[in-house]
Amino acid sequence: MSGLMYAIRLNGPNDFEYTRVMVPEVGPFEVLCRVESVAICGTDPHIIEGDYPGFWPKEYPLIPGHEWSGVIAKLDEKAYEFGWREGDRVCGISHVGCGYCSMCLEGRYNLCLNFGNETLGHRQHGHYTPGAYAQYMLSSIKSIARLPEEMSFNAGACMDPLSIALHMAMRSKLVPGDSVLVNGAGAQGLMSIMCVKSMGAGMVMVSGSGNRLNIAEKLGAIPINYREEDVAARVRELTGGRGAKRILECSGTEKGIAQACAAVAKGGCISVVSLPPGDGNITIPLKQLVLNEVELVGNRANPNTLEKAIAMATAHKFDIDSLVTHEFPLSEYAQALEVFVGRKENSLKVVCKPNE
Ligand SMILES: [Zn+2]
Ligand SMILES: [Zn+2]
Repeated sequence: MSGLMYAIRLNGPNDFEYTRVMVPEVGPFEVLCRVESVAICGTDPHIIEGDYPGFWPKEYPLIPGHEWSGVIAKLDEKAYEFGWREGDRVCGISHVGCGYCSMCLEGRYNLCLNFGNETLGHRQHGHYTPGAYAQYMLSSIKSIARLPEEMSFNAGACMDPLSIALHMAMRSKLVPGDSVLVNGAGAQGLMSIMCVKSMGAGMVMVSGSGNRLNIAEKLGAIPINYREEDVAARVRELTGGRGAKRILECSGTEKGIAQACAAVAKGGCISVVSLPPGDGNITIPLKQLVLNEVELVGNRANPNTLEKAIAMATAHKFDIDSLVTHEFPLSEYAQALEVFVGRKENSLKVVCKPNE
């Protein structure tokens, strides 16, 4: 594992290649992992297209990929002192806070005040520092968790988005019995349904269309086809006119946000994970939100929810593997990306295998 490895290297907007790069050296508090599975995230195509210039990435080249699982192949002494061992099965998340700023000290390392400052130890794997579309992934022990034996590597690679869904659900202040609308039935929406159901939600509704909506229904949510019906009107009908107490917004569209504002109950909360397109400056009915004391909560990534999500998925037997519809060797990344972006063959989570 010294020398060279295969990776997807992004050389510029829309310009990537499967090529050999140097295997990274392990530093203090770090582990080098053999990547077994890496899932394509909805953010990846945007990073690849160059939609966040100067930010994700700050500069080229970049190895993207951040939803991963694997096995520790090499580790530093300090990582060893923390209990990590060669051969441990792990999964990871993208954010590594500096650990010292006031946000990090509050546990909100996703909002680290030293974002982008590598000298001070900040990293965001696969966004501006090297990621997991590679045979080996270097990670801080701050951003990994152990996988239970019964969890597959594919499911392990999905613990990053699952822990984001959990963060979003927790930030919605869901309490048992609350009605919930999950806006969007993609992988993030489906994982949100799993989370809120095991957190004790009352009626769970979901807006979406096509095959994804059928899967959401199988997970126990009441399906609302946004192409055929007025989502807010249907939510009001199902909730005796009150609206949904908690809304988890995973659609990422202006229409989805408008729908959430129209469907939310008095005193409710709209918890948003998706980034709207473009500059994201969209119109919201603020007067209505103020008068109804509606909370609008932003969510960035998954601070401190990775271990929780793994525990929840294990205890409640979430069928994460069934969300992984496609698997490709990493060498066929271009095709994997096409299937994912085009939602071809009812694709949901598309996983690449760098070591097969
Ligand atoms: Zn992701
Ligand atoms: Zn920090």
